[in-house]
Amino acid sequence: MKDSIFNLDLENYEIGEHVTEFVEFPSFYGLQKVSAPVYIYRASEEISPCVVVTSCVHGDEINGLRISQSLIRGKIKITKGTLIIIPVVNIYGFLNKQRYLPDRKDLNRCFPGLTKGSFGSRFAHFIFQNITKYGDVFIDLHSGGPGRFNVPQIRCDLSVKATKAMVKKVSIPLVINSSLRDGSLRQAINDLNKSCIVFEGGEGLRIDETITKYGVNLVKSILEYHGMIKSKKHFNNDKVIIQKTKWLRAKEGGLLINKAHQGKVVKKDEVVGELREITGKLINKIKMENDGVILGISRSALIMSGDALYNIGYLDEKFQGDEDDEFFDYFDFEM
Ligand SMILES: [Zn+2]
Repeated sequence: MKDSIFNLDLENYEIGEHVTEFVEFPSFYGLQKVSAPVYIYRASEEISPCVVVTSCVHGDEINGLRISQSLIRGKIKITKGTLIIIPVVNIYGFLNKQRYLPDRKDLNRCFPGLTKGSFGSRFAHFIFQNITKYGDVFIDLHSGGPGRFNVPQIRCDLSVKATKAMVKKVSIPLVINSSLRDGSLRQAINDLNKSCIVFEGGEGLRIDETITKYGVNLVKSILEYHGMIKSKKHFNNDKVIIQKTKWLRAKEGGLLINKAHQGKVVKKDEVVGELREITGKLINKIKMENDGVILGISRSALIMSGDALYNIGYLDEKFQGDEDDEFFDYFDFEM
């Protein structure tokens, strides 16, 4: 990729200045110049701790962009270290309202990337080099795809010691512990023995300000944990750790009538939805297979056999919550 494209050098940024600039990304088809915003705030001579926030690695997951905007517009005054925000990583997908890159690759399966691979692999390498040059801690903002709503949650690998310690203190009610070998940004950063947290919240191509609030609080609580801000706000650290997730799928096609409370603890055999024929006749009730929390939900009513309906986080005996009712009050995402 050309020399003129963005190559982050923090020496070029004044201490104490909020800078949002458009930098050059690899061009579109070699024809059209492409630029994307990057925000940098360097608070001290010492670059560390350097927190990097990325969003729109999937181009249509724009709630992360809204979270980035809120952080940038809020001009958070960190007292030490550096904050870097890249609001639209996959600018190519974003311009087309698409999750993927123009070569139909999932950018989040291409990390850490290669200089001589496919476009996806080269682009992943370009992003990865820039953000890992200085970054110590990473927050990658995602949502469900279009038609799929995720309640606010983080996904991380709690076998990384620094991540485990940090997660105890951050503000987010649901933590999904998983270590994947999937070419994601999170995996590539974990391989460098650094912390990466994936935030999931909201639905593709939509902005939901409740989700935005959760995302902003998550980032602020991480900055506070690293001693970079002193927040007057008390962040709620209560959380549930989930070790296993599973999609409940439709046994048959039909119209989905949702009966579930998102984010609520649901007991085994409780009905979370119904599938009905076009006449209204009941096809079947969708029941929980175990106690669990609804992490994600299909927003589509027209269901084919096998469609993913509810993403369930299963609770084990280590469930730390108080009474279900309290948890429900705190974590109610009914729209
Ligand atoms: Zn995503």
